[in-house]
Amino acid sequence: MSAPYAGGCLCGQVRWRATAEPANVRVCHCRNCQRATGGPFFARAVFLADHIERAGETTRWPTSERVDRLSCARCGTPVFAEPKDPPARLGVALATLDDPGSLVPEAQIWVSEKLAWVTIHDGLPRFPQGA
Ligand SMILES: [Zn+2]
Repeated sequence: MSAPYAGGCLCGQVRWRATAEPANVRVCHCRNCQRATGGPFFARAVFLADHIERAGETTRWPTSERVDRLSCARCGTPVFAEPKDPPARLGVALATLDDPGSLVPEAQIWVSEKLAWVTIHDGLPRFPQGA
């Protein structure tokens, strides 16, 4: 697959479209992502903000000093993670893609905080913390 990519939240109120390839596609196992998503890890693509169009009302929560999380204001789907440090980027949850297999992770990060029952078999590069 190739750009554009598009997706949205469960109820359809929030929509996004990426007009270029992502800067990276990673699975993050940090505790912050676990709590913010309610899942065992967060699979996301990070795009330069200029390459993302978004529509719909979101709520914003600063889950750390470095990242805000944006969820659909209606259904609560955690769709975006927005780093605060430049350059302006936006992380998008892979599971919100309309074609959910169209972007594939290239690395596993923060595996030092991975849940013990999560077993990784994909052979991708792994990093104890961010990469
Ligand atoms: Zn929604």
